[in-house]
Amino acid sequence: MSIRWSESFIPTLKEQPKGVDNISHSLSLRAGLVKPLISGVYSYLPLGWKVLLNIITIIREEMNSIGAQEVALPSLSPRDLWERTGRWAGWGDEIFKFNDRKDRELCLAPTHEEIITDIASKELHSYKDLPQIWYQIKTKYRDEPRPRGGVLRVREFMMKDSYSMDVDEEGVKRSYALHRDAYIRIFTRCGLDCKIVEAPSGVMGGGLSEEFMVPSEGGEDRIIVCKKCGYQSNREIASYKRKKSDNASNGSNLLTKIYTPVEGSVDKISEFLKVPPSKLMKSLLFFNNSEPIFVLIRGDHEVSIEKLGIKGLRIAEPHEIKSITGAEAGYVSPIGLAIRTIADYSLQGEKGLVTGANENEYHFKDVDIDRDLKVNEWKDIEIPNTGDICPNCESPLSLEQTIEVGHIFQLGTRYSIPMVAFFLDSKGDQKPIIMGSYGIGIERVMATIIETHYDSNGILWPSEVAPYKVVIIPLNIGNPKIKEAAEEIWENLKEKTEVILDDRDETAGVKFKDAQLIGIPWQIVIGERSISENSVEIKSRDGKISTSVLKANAVSEILKELKVQN
Ligand code: ATP
Ligand code: MG
Repeated sequence: MSIRWSESFIPTLKEQPKGVDNISHSLSLRAGLVKPLISGVYSYLPLGWKVLLNIITIIREEMNSIGAQEVALPSLSPRDLWERTGRWAGWGDEIFKFNDRKDRELCLAPTHEEIITDIASKELHSYKDLPQIWYQIKTKYRDEPRPRGGVLRVREFMMKDSYSMDVDEEGVKRSYALHRDAYIRIFTRCGLDCKIVEAPSGVMGGGLSEEFMVPSEGGEDRIIVCKKCGYQSNREIASYKRKKSDNASNGSNLLTKIYTPVEGSVDKISEFLKVPPSKLMKSLLFFNNSEPIFVLIRGDHEVSIEKLGIKGLRIAEPHEIKSITGAEAGYVSPIGLAIRTIADYSLQGEKGLVTGANENEYHFKDVDIDRDLKVNEWKDIEIPNTGDICPNCESPLSLEQTIEVGHIFQLGTRYSIPMVAFFLDSKGDQKPIIMGSYGIGIERVMATIIETHYDSNGILWPSEVAPYKVVIIPLNIGNPKIKEAAEEIWENLKEKTEVILDDRDETAGVKFKDAQLIGIPWQIVIGERSISENSVEIKSRDGKISTSVLKANAVSEILKELKVQN
């Protein structure tokens, strides 16, 4: 659809909006794409909605191309479906829950595995009914604790979610591979350069899962990458090769208690004792149901809950720490206590460590991990940092800030068993359906495109998602020759591509600024000088192309650039 700017609703802002620190948020407000209502809830204005529809079109085409069938599932769903999989409580406060007028407990679906599996359990009875891939483009509701970055993380958003149902492992692997390839095509068409990393499967449960991550300063996720061999992984589950610390050997001294009258954080203790953080042993107390567990890692690392892999594990409350150890967090350790202890490999054989003495404002020094405490289990539980060593090629690893735009999971029987979605196989045996689930956040894709395609003047939309492909800019609409040329080009172009005619009585400066801000990939500029020579300028938004063409050739030239058949 093509439109005249004078008749359109594109409320651009000249100024940087206040209190906005994120590029895509700022530009989507300034370009008049979105309007906030309440925290994490947005309206999409005509330009923003056109971009979202373009993204949806790309997704639909690619999903249809792998034989996925589009469905539409409800947002309202009853509590008992979610109880069956343990996710009513598992998702906690992130689910919007409420009662209807008959006092039935409902929620607004944050995702649709339960609803799909419910259909599968009622409708798919035989191996002859399988495989199936169903997808939808549907609004999800998640009461995110920290909505941020404009539409990067919102509480009401559209997701393309699809679900595969197969008879066996081989089947789900095929459905997964089809999705993986479709996702690569979708993100490429959206102009996004993704890294595909192995992911923790979190609240979804299940087996192999990968995330599509776009490197960007605006992202909340960090991934580990090895620039040498290409190893890449979600930070939570990335591995790294442990090296012995330099002074591992100088530990023949006796365990000694020392007075440390500073806050019990790694930084403060390290500064006070003049010991590097790597020689501090972080002792963290967790609970697995009613069992306390000590988790030990190096002071310069963080623990990965994903890698600990204990379902239902939670960090101990301050009063629990006090009653078990006699001290506050920061001054505790398993030394002298009979508590199950899990330690990271990085501490194996270590001596000369510093850790809490289970007394406020006291630490132990010269800790010899083999001599002074009992480790029940050695495990890979640390999150790597920049500079840690690649597990494959031993080069240094680095951290990269990314945005997660898509996620694919092999769910296995995580949902089909509890929801009794079984089928009869070719031998007449009852088997659980093997499932997969695959998501893409539509608004997040739009925000991520902006995060990765902008300059100091505004957005640079990749062609396929651009709200309009061409903007015609008559610099002085008061000049009849310019006006006439603009109208003529517009008449000839408007049926062939999506074009906006800036017919406003505004200055050239305002028109250029707005065209750049809203990021239309091509401009046809008509000014006094060029029109006197019967020509117009064709310019690309990225500044790479700027040519003068005869007015009569403007349409064919621009279509050539757009690769549209004339
Ligand atoms: P995140 O870790 O960012 O919260 P998630 O792991 O909860 O994401 P999934 O449940 O896998 O996300 O959802 C699939 C896709 O939906 C994500 O890859 C992302 O693109 C999008 N998405 C998830 N949560 C939001 C949100 N609050 N706002 C916008 N998009 C979202
Ligand atoms: Mg989430």
